[in-house]
Amino acid sequence: MSRIVYVNGDYVPEEEAKISVFDRGFLFADGVYEVSSVIDGRLIDNGAHLERLKRSLDELGMDAPCPLEEVEAVQMEMLKRNDLTEGLLYLQVTRGAADRDFNYPKGAKPSLVMFTQAKKVTENPAADKGLSVITLPDLRWHRRDIKTVQLLYPSMCKEEAKAKGADDAWLVEDGQVTEGTSNNAWIVLEDGTLVTRQLSNDILHGITRRAVMRFARERQIKVEERPFTVEEAQDAKEAFVTSASAFVMPVVSIDGAPIGDGKVGETVKGLRKIYLDEAGRL
Ligand code: PMP
Repeated sequence: MSRIVYVNGDYVPEEEAKISVFDRGFLFADGVYEVSSVIDGRLIDNGAHLERLKRSLDELGMDAPCPLEEVEAVQMEMLKRNDLTEGLLYLQVTRGAADRDFNYPKGAKPSLVMFTQAKKVTENPAADKGLSVITLPDLRWHRRDIKTVQLLYPSMCKEEAKAKGADDAWLVEDGQVTEGTSNNAWIVLEDGTLVTRQLSNDILHGITRRAVMRFARERQIKVEERPFTVEEAQDAKEAFVTSASAFVMPVVSIDGAPIGDGKVGETVKGLRKIYLDEAGRL
């Protein structure tokens, strides 16, 4: 059965969904996106995703395609029309279609596109097995805080990880881990303290990162926001990544070095359970 895709005001079967070849998202990667998880027919932490969408648009001087309340109404309609109870909802805003020119076009109408992906997000075998990651230099641009659709370097890194038999990659700059290719990176110290890099233009301000940080602090688990090296991560008790689609996912080896005993640890198992238990109130 074909999905219903949203394109600039229309709900159409995916085979009929079309966007202009002059769309600046296509020509310049001049667009931003958000991915929200759906559990029990409900978008998780969606208010925070829409807030970040607004921030991404503002940072790029891009107009919103419509007020955020309308974006949300379309999101709800998409879940309904696709009968989506569990999976992902992807939304993308681009600066719109205009004759090719590096400078921003005047009067172009921003495009808004959405599609759903039905998927079991709460049950993921990787959560029991843990991920193996390799490290690669972070060669992305320096506005990683803006959630743009220019995802080629993360794709290259995921390909390299796969070719080396690993699940994903952590990116490294000036000797410190920035984040994962599509997630925020964390380590757990011997005393149970969680460490993740502080917010700046160097990383995406993860929505799941923020929620996990809050849930941890509510439970008197210490969280330090600072950079860490690959060596510190390899010597850590546990490691994990956070993202809106994978929630809390254990990392059990980095560049072939096992973290702790190389198995999924209790802290990360606990944090994943807390996140899934609390997701309903996000
Ligand atoms: N960093 C990067 C580079 C990402 O692509 C993502 C996922 N979009 C994240 C972090 C995690 O962010 P969030 O928890 O908002 O999905």
